[in-house]
Amino acid sequence: MNLKSKILGGLYGQALGDAWGMPAYFDPDQTWRTFGWITTFLPAPADHEVHGGLPAGRITDDSEQAFSLARAYLAAGGVTVDASVKAIVDWYDRTGGDQSRYVGPSTRRGVLALKRGEDPYQAGRMGDTNGAAMRVSPVGLLHPGAPVAAVEDAYLSCVPTHNTNVASSGAGAVAAAVSIAVTPDATLDSIVAAGILGAELGRKRGTVWLGPSVARRIEMAVQIALRPDEPLVRLRDLYADIGTSLSIVETVGAAFGVLVMGKGDPATVAMYAANLSGDADTVAAIACAIAGAYQGIDAIPEWAVAALNADEIFASYDVPALADGIEKLVSGA
Ligand SMILES: [Mg+2]
Repeated sequence: MNLKSKILGGLYGQALGDAWGMPAYFDPDQTWRTFGWITTFLPAPADHEVHGGLPAGRITDDSEQAFSLARAYLAAGGVTVDASVKAIVDWYDRTGGDQSRYVGPSTRRGVLALKRGEDPYQAGRMGDTNGAAMRVSPVGLLHPGAPVAAVEDAYLSCVPTHNTNVASSGAGAVAAAVSIAVTPDATLDSIVAAGILGAELGRKRGTVWLGPSVARRIEMAVQIALRPDEPLVRLRDLYADIGTSLSIVETVGAAFGVLVMGKGDPATVAMYAANLSGDADTVAAIACAIAGAYQGIDAIPEWAVAALNADEIFASYDVPALADGIEKLVSGA
């Protein structure tokens, strides 16, 4: 499979998971009572706390920020703190961040500090939630086969809003996993190993903060994923033992869990992540970005690609052009 297919798969996978998980409720029982298995794109129920009123197939902050970062890094010729600042602040303003229900707590605090003129390295010094990981997949795509470099650049993507060792660890895990997933001979085992390496290396960057080990949470989640129990039982265990709150440790751990449960198939991974509930769109976006980079664009269902392309928000990011740009940058063309 060629690099272009894997880059496209990573970007479309990010959006696939985001849109598939978007309607899920916070609580698994409420999700299953309402939908059963979520087997396709669905609109968010009107009473959804964050996504009420969104149509089927709509991406959210996760993919919008990821694509905004990708665009800014292509314009800058690589990953820089300045490009990260510009991408996130521009996204916040473009989407009416002051009123938006889906700006996360660390991102809002960081953006408001940046707008007050704070140094970018100070603005994010307390950011420890999952926004750092939900948007970082393009950094992995920019470093095929180079997980250590991916972790270093993942930290630069964290700085303005999530400059803590906990967030850098979570983002490093995802970027390193994507950087290996996008290589031709990637396996699920090598992707998980890269994630654990990235978590350990990423933890050496940023403000020393409080939070448990991302690496160990990934290991725990993979153990649950590999149990012989029915999928619903394993999803319950992931929800209860790993967690799917805004904690980046939980989110990244759970994402690796559903990635392994779904054997790296993007649509299966998305379905599991959606039905896991909690911050489902974020878990799904992360897991499916990795899965899409692993299996390439042809593994993303055609109906999903068509639905995403037909959505005005997704279309506004011109993802095929982002994929072209990433391929050119990494191949030195
Ligand atoms: Mg979201």
